[in-house]
Amino acid sequence: MNVLVTGGAGYLGSHACLKLLEEGYGVVALDNLANSNSKSLERVQKITGKTLKFYEGDILDREVLGRIFSEQKIDFCIHFAGLKAVGESVQKPWEYYNNNITGTLTLLDEMRKAGVKNIIFSSSATVYGDPAQIPITEECPKGSCTNPYGWTKSMIEQILMDMYKADNEWNIVILRYFNPVGAHQSALIGEDPKGIPNNLMPYVTQVALGRLPQLGVFGGDYDTPDGTCIRDYIHVLDLIDGHVKAIKKLEDNSGLSIYNLGTGHGVSVLELVENFIKATGVDVPYVMKDRRAGDIPVCYSDPSKAERELGWKAQYGVFEMCRDAWNWQMKNPKGYEEE
Ligand code: NAD
Ligand code: UDP
Repeated sequence: MNVLVTGGAGYLGSHACLKLLEEGYGVVALDNLANSNSKSLERVQKITGKTLKFYEGDILDREVLGRIFSEQKIDFCIHFAGLKAVGESVQKPWEYYNNNITGTLTLLDEMRKAGVKNIIFSSSATVYGDPAQIPITEECPKGSCTNPYGWTKSMIEQILMDMYKADNEWNIVILRYFNPVGAHQSALIGEDPKGIPNNLMPYVTQVALGRLPQLGVFGGDYDTPDGTCIRDYIHVLDLIDGHVKAIKKLEDNSGLSIYNLGTGHGVSVLELVENFIKATGVDVPYVMKDRRAGDIPVCYSDPSKAERELGWKAQYGVFEMCRDAWNWQMKNPKGYEEE
């Protein structure tokens, strides 16, 4: 079986390419390198000793998509490609809607033209908005998103549902990620944000490294045990394992399904910092700051549907997430820039 991995050079995409090669799939990666470096894929091939095909190109480009589907026999697609910086999406809504939504529409059109109607889509817990219930099950109603990035995920989900309603030949798995962190244990691939990180874990690892002076903790006055926000961090290896399990749903022709990918455990910002210090022995100085606009106090999953239907359950805890994120950062202080 051959899989097209869009956004294959990115953080999650590169870990997916690695796992898929290990599992014996033929991998075709497509990425425009807008937020990644093709070295990630060189390293994936180094780790696995296997080769993949890489197309440097855009999901908005019908020519490159057409070329891929005519040159390669693709059985299904895992669609990671997209812009994902929440703050930037507020500044550049058109760019986000165009890239993520028009890009996905173009991909879906070229897929159906090629007769490939199997797709796994990277969605996000952000579609729940301020969640109506905690822990969040898949039945929890979708909510109002606080930024264009979130809306692109919510709208693409709707597009996929409507495409499926109109044409039952599609098999679609929507995976709603909670907070992916960590890196492959080789420490050869990992998260490599451009500029100052927006997300907590890469910020913490860069403070630990001394590249940033201290962590700002956004809000200490939430209605949570220690006053800081609670999230459901999930090891990237567990997250990708969830995708491999989800492929089975495509093979079974089971139509459209939606799964949360999280651990089911809520961890506060301060707990994450404590775990990081314990796991690495490296200090992370922090200061309390004002709340960040758009943050919700508590967000964690009920992942039992994925366990029931896919036989998937997260294996790693916060300790391993911190350890592996740190090993990657320590061995690659400038990410892929330095060899
Ligand atoms: P990433 O930025 O590392 O990877 C996305 C990849 O897509 C990048 O390599 C980028 O260059 C590529 N890309 C963007 N637009 C493209 C286009 N038009 N054509 C071709 N390639 C394009 O991000 P990631 O963390 O690996 O996220 C992967 C997917 O998972 C994204 O869709 C993201 O929204 C979603 N997601 C991520 C998280 C997270 O915290 N990392 C959480 C929820 C959902
Ligand atoms: N956070 C923080 N300082 C930072 C980055 C993030 O305190 O420099 C907090 C943020 O307010 C949120 C949590 O860490 O409560 C996770 O933030 P992240 O951006 O990683 O994920 P998301 O907001 O998408 O859940």
